Amino acid sequence: MPRVVTVPCLSDNYAYLVVDEATGAAAVVDPSEAGPVLAAARREGVGLGAIWCTHHHFDHVGGNEELAAAVPGLRIYGHASDWGRIPGQTEALDHGGAFPLGTEEVRALHVPGHTLGAVAYWVGGVVFTGDTLFHGGCGRLFEGTPEAMHRSLSGVLGALPGSTRVYCGHEYTVANLRFARTVEPGNPAVEIRLAECAALAARGQATVGATLGVERRTNPFLRTSSPEVRAFVGLGPDAPDAEVLGALRRAKDGFRG
Ligand SMILES: [Zn+2]
Repeated sequence: MPRVVTVPCLSDNYAYLVVDEATGAAAVVDPSEAGPVLAAARREGVGLGAIWCTHHHFDHVGGNEELAAAVPGLRIYGHASDWGRIPGQTEALDHGGAFPLGTEEVRALHVPGHTLGAVAYWVGGVVFTGDTLFHGGCGRLFEGTPEAMHRSLSGVLGALPGSTRVYCGHEYTVANLRFARTVEPGNPAVEIRLAECAALAARGQATVGATLGVERRTNPFLRTSSPEVRAFVGLGPDAPDAEVLGALRRAKDGFRG
């Protein structure tokens, strides 16, 4: 498993340094700003070889060009369909595309929904999900359909082992879990996780890095088959999961917890 260093950027974004301890090879996920990323790389004593972009939004790629200027030969990965939207992109990925980080193999997972070119990066038991899967929630459907987001969350990311550690693009966890508690007041796992994350947030600590297993127990967007989730959006057992997800996402858009 690579070492993951959380790098807070902007107001609530996270970039991540990903370090292969065996070789010292390092990459950065979603550098919205160059300054904090370069400082973290210096502090950790690692040299950056690549940027892994989860999608083209400015608060995920804003530091690309400054980093490329500071680090000659830097490779910049993103989905093939985001070519022209990701500044400085040098590598075009398709679903399942693999490339190395030192001794580790990284695999790109195409997860459209938030945007059409959204990619998650899976490496050594860790997954970087950008704005597709958040702790306790999912991203807004800017370009994709509820069907696409459901497939990305429950089909693609859902196929990864429950022990996989999740690192997402924003610190939205407490707000997401407050919504989750409203959706599923009868799910004690949500209440426990909310208390844990609220305590972390109160100390100014990041809540990221929980497992997919925790998400499956607490994230309503991965629980569209739950009768309580369905009842919340007024849908019964016969409604397709994607319809439940779409209704949940609309409810979250209007939720002020
Ligand atoms: Zn985004």
